[in-house]
Amino acid sequence: MHLNTSHLSRRTALQATLCALASPAAFAAPAKFDIWPHESRVPGGVARLSLGPAAQRPKVKAGDFPVLVAGDMIEWTAIVGIPLSAAPGVHRVQVDAGEGLQSLEYRVRDKRYQEQHLKVSPKTVDLAPEDLARHERERAHQQQVMALFTAQRSEDLRMRVPVPGRRSSSFGLRRVFNGQSRNPHSGMDIAAAKGTPVVAPLPGKVVDVGDYFFNGGTVWLDHGAGLLSMYCHLSRTDAKLGDVLATGDAFAAVGATGRVTGPHLHWGVMLNQTMVDPALFVPA
Ligand code: ZN
Repeated sequence: MHLNTSHLSRRTALQATLCALASPAAFAAPAKFDIWPHESRVPGGVARLSLGPAAQRPKVKAGDFPVLVAGDMIEWTAIVGIPLSAAPGVHRVQVDAGEGLQSLEYRVRDKRYQEQHLKVSPKTVDLAPEDLARHERERAHQQQVMALFTAQRSEDLRMRVPVPGRRSSSFGLRRVFNGQSRNPHSGMDIAAAKGTPVVAPLPGKVVDVGDYFFNGGTVWLDHGAGLLSMYCHLSRTDAKLGDVLATGDAFAAVGATGRVTGPHLHWGVMLNQTMVDPALFVPA
């Protein structure tokens, strides 16, 4: 089912009424598009889907996963993470705006990511049985962290870069380690010296601190409403589980722990349990 035309025209009429009631001060606020991630309807990208007006924040799901909804009663927008594995073509989210469930369609364009060949320690490609068992335990734990959906912490969803340095455009690369294909690269690598402080890109709560087989020293921050960020290969973590950080607070240091070719920050950003391109959240 689509949002049908009569439904949309009713919404437009309501929107006109609500706009007429808006105070002049409302127009001094920054444009919403300046505080949301850039849109890119490709695998690994973000779709911004207009939901129209509603008295309450609509509930939206992509598959089984709740979706971040931003805006206000005049115009709500679903900020949807698109999986790297998404096939080009029509995709749907389910919208509950208090008038029953609606299906809202959007189209994902094709994007071909390049292949990247990397040479790493052989024991991080052909895993020993004990390392494989460790990785399986860690993956199950990470799934629990990724499933968090807490109250939204900030309407401003644009991020500052967590460390200064050269930002690679390696998100989405199909990776081949020592000649063997592995999962695509699901974050941004930022080149920085060991010990460089890592700062929070948005207000967030520390929801995981660990030392993992592939990711090395790792911290996850929860920014609310299914928006989480992940920092890997850290040499040091200064934050504790449960710490609440403001934008710009240092909480860790860059390192070369886990499966790496040298010191750098691996930065991941997740929406609706989907890793998306962090470049969409920061200034170009
Ligand atoms: Zn990386």
